[in-house]
Amino acid sequence: MDFDFSWALWGLPIVFVLGWAASRFDLRQLRIENRQAPKAYFRGLTFLLNEQQDQAIDAFIEAVQNDPDTSELHFALGNLFRRRGEYERAVRVHEHLLSRGDLTRADRQRAQHALALDYLKAGLLDRAEEALRKLEGTVFEEQALLALLGIYERSRDWAQAAVTARKLEGAGHGNFSNRLAHYLCEQATRAPNDRAEQLLREALALAPGAARPAIDLAALERRAGDPAAAYRTLSRLAHAAPSAIPLIAGPLSEIALACGKAERALETLKTSYELSPSLDVLEGIVALEPDRAAARGWYVQHLGREPSLVAASRWLAGEVLTHEEFHPQIQQALDHAIKPLTRYRCAACGFEAKQHFWQCPGCQAWDSYPARRVEEL
Ligand SMILES: [Zn+2]
Repeated sequence: MDFDFSWALWGLPIVFVLGWAASRFDLRQLRIENRQAPKAYFRGLTFLLNEQQDQAIDAFIEAVQNDPDTSELHFALGNLFRRRGEYERAVRVHEHLLSRGDLTRADRQRAQHALALDYLKAGLLDRAEEALRKLEGTVFEEQALLALLGIYERSRDWAQAAVTARKLEGAGHGNFSNRLAHYLCEQATRAPNDRAEQLLREALALAPGAARPAIDLAALERRAGDPAAAYRTLSRLAHAAPSAIPLIAGPLSEIALACGKAERALETLKTSYELSPSLDVLEGIVALEPDRAAARGWYVQHLGREPSLVAASRWLAGEVLTHEEFHPQIQQALDHAIKPLTRYRCAACGFEAKQHFWQCPGCQAWDSYPARRVEEL
């Protein structure tokens, strides 16, 4: 059979040229892709600086597709998704990062922290807790413990909150005695009397200068029919923490009247008032003063010190007017006007409330309510 070898003479160079062209094409393609990744990245950055987050996300997605091995781009994209409130996508990005085998230890911890933040922001507290627990022993430990503390407080898991606070304290991140005392008081509110008393005494021992354990214990003793014990508890607090006297003036005067200690309580309140006049202490004095005319005189004396609308209104309530028939309407208008002045205001966020809170319902800060009414701030 006759075989034509002539194809080899011109065929081989063609194959060679084709191969060379293909390799050139691959190289060019690769160069284009390499150039595209930073280009898309910088485009994303520009959008980000112009606060055009949607366009920035599109550009970063393109950059990540062009260069799937770059972890920095994934971090940038994941954080952007979270900031946009697209938590599912943020979680997917960070889970993808964690699933990669080539990630450095530091980047793995960073991705774990980012994932925990995604869950926290999304309000998926169970998953956030799990993700945060994995950060113990890493550089993110303090942040993780603080976030865990927030989760336990929000879910009112006081036992776990105490364990976490002790860990933070042990690692030198501040003094958590007052916070731990609050946790014990919180547990006491739901415990039977015997257990509640035990918890409150524990809180008192832990934070002797804190007002809440003594106030809660006195309330418990009063409910249990022992006003003398309640009086002793409040007196000790008045001595240990004079700044808390405005908070206890009301219950102290009631308890003192119930157990025959009115005179001594009046002395305590008068001493406190002289050092630092307060509306609540003034009300306590008025309640304890045996002579009613002298009692009302305290409002006038207070007006000499402070131009207080609250004190003026209280004095007027007990006065007989020339046109007494109009007194109820006038009193009603005044009472309405002083209502905002008798509120408590959070020093951290400005949230105002009729009652005093140990933990602000607005910003969750502890002990952020001064013992003074809005009018006195
Ligand atoms: Zn607040």
